Amino acid sequence: MTLLEVDGIDVAYGDVQVIWDVSFSVSEGETVALLGANGAGKTTVLKTICGPLAPSAGTITFHGEPIGDLEQDEVVPKGVTHIPEGRDIFTESTVKENLRLGAYTNPDGMADQFERVYDVFPRLEERRGQQAGTLSGGEQQMLAIGRGLMSDPDLILLDEASLGLAPVLVEDVFDAIERINEEGTTVLLVEQDVNNALHIADRGYVLESGRLTLSGDAADLAEDERVAASYLGG
Ligand code: ATP
Repeated sequence: MTLLEVDGIDVAYGDVQVIWDVSFSVSEGETVALLGANGAGKTTVLKTICGPLAPSAGTITFHGEPIGDLEQDEVVPKGVTHIPEGRDIFTESTVKENLRLGAYTNPDGMADQFERVYDVFPRLEERRGQQAGTLSGGEQQMLAIGRGLMSDPDLILLDEASLGLAPVLVEDVFDAIERINEEGTTVLLVEQDVNNALHIADRGYVLESGRLTLSGDAADLAEDERVAASYLGG
C-alpha cells in the first residue's frame, strides 16, 4: 500500500525554482533511496515533505491525506519524522533528555520507545547520562536517529545519515537503518553514499538539477552507469 505519494511538485526558494515536477511514491515497509549530486535538490524534497517548505505546485499525500502545506509540528503527530543533515541535537542536554524530547508527540508510548531505541543503539543506553555535545560524531548520529524514533514514526526521512563518519561507523549506521526498517518503519533516505544506500534500499530515484531522471529497483540502479554519471554532473 502506498504510504507517501509525491505528485508533480515544484519547489522554489523565493523566486528561484529548484525542484521541477517531481513525482515518486513510497510504499509501506519499503526503504527508498533518493540519490543525486550536490545541489540536485534532495534536501529540498525532504524539507518539502516534512514541513519547513511547501510546494508551489503539485501535492504530497501521506496515508492518503494531503500534508504538503502542513508545518513540521503538524506532520510529526501524523507519523513522519525527519532526521536532518548535521544531526541538530541539543548539545547541552543529556542523551536521555534528547530522547525524551523526541517523544513529545508520543508521551504514552515513551517507555516502549526508550526500550526500542536502547535495543537498536545499546551505546545510547550506556551513555544516557552524558551531555550530548560530548558524544563522538557517530554517537551523535545514533542519537539523532534515536530521537526521531521516539515519536514512533510510520515514515522516517533520513538526510545524509552517514556523512562525515568513519567507515566502521557508516556500517553501524546503515545496519541500524536496516534494522529499523525490518521492525516496520518505512524509510526514505537521501545519501551521497550510493553503494551503501542502494545496498539497503528496495528502490531508488535519481535527482539531477531538480528533476527526476531515473528510477528503479535498487539492484538495477546499482549496476546502472547513469547513476554514477549523475554524480559527476554528467
Ligand atoms: P547536498 O547533497 O549538497 O546537500 P541537495 O541535493 O540536498 O545537495 P539542496 O540542498 O536541496 O540539494 O539544494 C538544491 C538547490 O537549492 C541548490 O542549488 C541550493 O543552492 C538551493 N538552495 C538550498 N537551500 C536554499 C535556500 N535556503 N535559499 C536559496 N537556495 C537554496
